[in-house]
Amino acid sequence: MASGGPGELERIVRAYALLNAVRYGGKASVGSVMSMILGDMPELKPRARELAGLVKRAVDWANSLSPEDQERLLSEYRGLVRAQARREHREARGGGLPPLPGAREGAVVTRFAPNPDFVIHIGNARPAIVSYEYARMYKGRMILRFEDTDPRTKTPLKEAYDLIREDLRWLGVGWDEEYVQSMRMGVFYDQARAMLERGCAYVDLCGEESRSLLASGRACRTRDEPPEWQLEQWDRMVEGHYSEGEAVVRIKTDLSHPNPSIRDWVALRIIDTDRHPHPLVGSKYRVWPTYNYAVSVDDHLMGVTHVLRGKEHQVNTEKQLYVYKCFGWEPPVFIHFGRLKLEGFIMSKSKIRKLLEENPGKFMGYDDPRFGTIAGLRRRGILAEAIRNVILSIGVKPGDATLSWANLAAVNRKLLDERADRVMYVDRPVGFRLEARSCLEAEIPLHPSRPRETRRLRACPGSTIYIDEGDAGHEEVRLMGLGNFRLVGDRLVMVNDDLDYARKRRLPIIQWVPGEGAVKVRILEPSGLDMVVHDGLAEPRLRVYTVDDRLQFVRFGFVRVDSKDGDVVTVIYTHK
Ligand code: GLU
Repeated sequence: MASGGPGELERIVRAYALLNAVRYGGKASVGSVMSMILGDMPELKPRARELAGLVKRAVDWANSLSPEDQERLLSEYRGLVRAQARREHREARGGGLPPLPGAREGAVVTRFAPNPDFVIHIGNARPAIVSYEYARMYKGRMILRFEDTDPRTKTPLKEAYDLIREDLRWLGVGWDEEYVQSMRMGVFYDQARAMLERGCAYVDLCGEESRSLLASGRACRTRDEPPEWQLEQWDRMVEGHYSEGEAVVRIKTDLSHPNPSIRDWVALRIIDTDRHPHPLVGSKYRVWPTYNYAVSVDDHLMGVTHVLRGKEHQVNTEKQLYVYKCFGWEPPVFIHFGRLKLEGFIMSKSKIRKLLEENPGKFMGYDDPRFGTIAGLRRRGILAEAIRNVILSIGVKPGDATLSWANLAAVNRKLLDERADRVMYVDRPVGFRLEARSCLEAEIPLHPSRPRETRRLRACPGSTIYIDEGDAGHEEVRLMGLGNFRLVGDRLVMVNDDLDYARKRRLPIIQWVPGEGAVKVRILEPSGLDMVVHDGLAEPRLRVYTVDDRLQFVRFGFVRVDSKDGDVVTVIYTHK
């Protein structure tokens, strides 16, 4: 490849820039394009400088194109991209997922159906991501549906609707249609009447007794009443003649079904919304559909062709099929995958709620970086792409999967490493007085693959330079970009700035922070349920970054800027 004329290399570089742009929402980055190219063509390493110029131009060119032109030109240039980058590209676009049974291009409808009673966590992100990817793979439709018909035990949280939408957008999950079930009560009522008319459901007036009856394969006597009677009772339920528990609508199933929970399961029940008001519709309704009933009606009416969800829903699927049978509807294809756990992180909403309630002030909220919520992982500095890559590589296998923090961090590190600016930070600062003949200047690239993007640091004789306590015991060191120094008492005495000298003597190359303009940094490092706090100093450059920027603190680890308060920058430690 390197032997091709300049025209040829330029075309190759453009191909990579296009690929990167299409993959990252239209904006290619010089750092990622450089590392993709060098990964595929290590023989170009000696020409890195020349390549960086070409990449910069190609990235500007690719970013100036419309998304349509990027896609169009990519198909023209694609042949120039080597296998590894092509494979990564395919995987990033969902190509890692197996074909969907019974799917036809243009005729796939999937949905993500969260309960808005809390924010979503990495386990919930799985159905969201795979449903979205399949819809995209088959040029179909994706639905977002909030399942909020349980104001009593899964009480919806008003703010959760927006928080979930935000998390999904951040994850790169888009949707074509959106529904909120509490806004569709009329639909559930109409279908309930239709089931009663067809004789496949009944109003049970036996209360508690029904439980023991069903356990022994029998049912409430009202099961056999004719449809007219059922409809009359239904009207009475809706009009408020019954209170909680006195009347429920049950679906007729097999009374001898081996799983007693399936026998005549409850489709609609009364909830006292004066005591348990719904955050969106208050106490407007008293009869509420259960999850299993509402989900079946909606999946059918919304034309869902493929339901992708965890295997904890397998019994639910069996229940839901009775609704399909009642109406003679064709069921969608159900795919159940295993559970996904993130080792060492708390994901359960009840546990998180409890921790928040019982330890006021200890946690930052549902988005605390010690939690496995999407918001928590985002705050920690995990990239949406890392979550997507991990979930797509696990796919829709039925076996349970445990993701270790080390796995997720490794995927994330690889992505961050390509992009994050390098900034110098000293964790336990020890000040030294600089001794040199004149003022010194260091020009250091922000990223090794972007040699031309640099910042300058200046230090004059007599000024203070901070280095880390752990580096202060050496006799001689090389301060990155500045030169070689001897440590004498509390002084840093310049020896020379010869890189070969440092190499020959194997001097440790260390980060440093000039006293002038140093930025106070507080690092919050999650450690189980604790938070380790570091108070250190960073070079002045840190000031240009804003909340949410991700950086690498040289020889320390990756961090995400969390807040800027007066003269202190607080960052969260992501991982090594
Ligand atoms: N609301 C249900 C849940 O969050 C949806 C399950 C399903 O996909 O049917 O578990």
